[in-house]
Amino acid sequence: MIEFNQADISTLNLLLKNKKKIAILTHVNPDGDAIGSSLGVFHFLNNLGHDVTVITPNEYPLFLQWLPGNKNVLVYSKNKSKGKKVLHEAELIFTLDFNHVERIDWLKKIFSETKAKKILIDHHPNPENFADLKFSDTNVSSTAELVYLVIKKLNKTDKIDVNAATCLYTGIMTDTGCFNYNCSNPDTFKTAAGLIEKGININIINSSVYDNYSADRMKLMGYSLHEKMQLYPEYNSAVIALSQKEMQQFNFESGDTEGFVNLPLSIKGIVFSVLLLEKKDHVKLSFRSQGNFPANEIAANYFEGGGHLNAAGGKTKLSLEEAIAKLEELFKQYKDNLQNAF
Ligand code: 5GP
Ligand code: MN
Repeated sequence: MIEFNQADISTLNLLLKNKKKIAILTHVNPDGDAIGSSLGVFHFLNNLGHDVTVITPNEYPLFLQWLPGNKNVLVYSKNKSKGKKVLHEAELIFTLDFNHVERIDWLKKIFSETKAKKILIDHHPNPENFADLKFSDTNVSSTAELVYLVIKKLNKTDKIDVNAATCLYTGIMTDTGCFNYNCSNPDTFKTAAGLIEKGININIINSSVYDNYSADRMKLMGYSLHEKMQLYPEYNSAVIALSQKEMQQFNFESGDTEGFVNLPLSIKGIVFSVLLLEKKDHVKLSFRSQGNFPANEIAANYFEGGGHLNAAGGKTKLSLEEAIAKLEELFKQYKDNLQNAF
């Protein structure tokens, strides 16, 4: 069971005592845990009577836009003046699901200028020191689970309604790949049980996230596996790279490639999988690994990124071809680790 610093819990309790203007901020390209934990905190704070706004740096996939409270999310890139105003006026800012200010990208400067007290809740390794209060633990499945545990420690689970529970469950579900990884700790299932007790419908949550894709997305997945997956059996690795043109051929929409990077890990022997996506002015990389192979080390040391041991991301200014060549060099360099991940 995670141990919280009692003084931090008391301080948070005090901060939440009187009605406040609160902003909730999460990372760029928000995923299910980012949006799920942010909206979970949004509903919780609303239920405590606060004036709350969730801010994301940019848009997020359609499969997260059904979540209760979604219409209250302010997408900064679409409404900068309102976003600035909310951040400047906030008395408290919750920073969720990120450990470095780099992760909020173009919001970094304005964030550093804000006067609000900052409260970090996050499960990524080695968080920077930008918050006044830090609830950080890498052993929890997800930020959403950590949010639940903090609320429990505050003795306020009665303020988690079915909407908050739906959002938090979605965060846990997506960050654990439907309770497949990062969830060997029984506490994760106790948290899920606590959320289910709030009356959520896990069938609807599951199908809203996973059964809402376009036919084009399924075809892009088939194309990625059949035409684009490169296997490196001697390095236990796999690479899929998609150009902008290829994505456009399948009417790409944000979120369509979500999950693709995990697919090669189903192949016997593959312990490291990389997905490269060509963007307008850079290439985005997603890394997934198994066992003790450090995906985050590759991301941090070679691709301006970071993340968890087994799930990380980064970017590069190299072309797709050059980035693949760089990866191939890294496979050679890390051959021993790739062959001994278990
Ligand atoms: P994804 O591959 O789904 O984009 O990202 C997987 C995980 O890697 C994220 O949950 C996040 O922890 C991390 N990550 C992704 N992109 C970046 C990045 O550009 N910088 C850092 N520091 N972490 C990233
Ligand atoms: Mn997360």
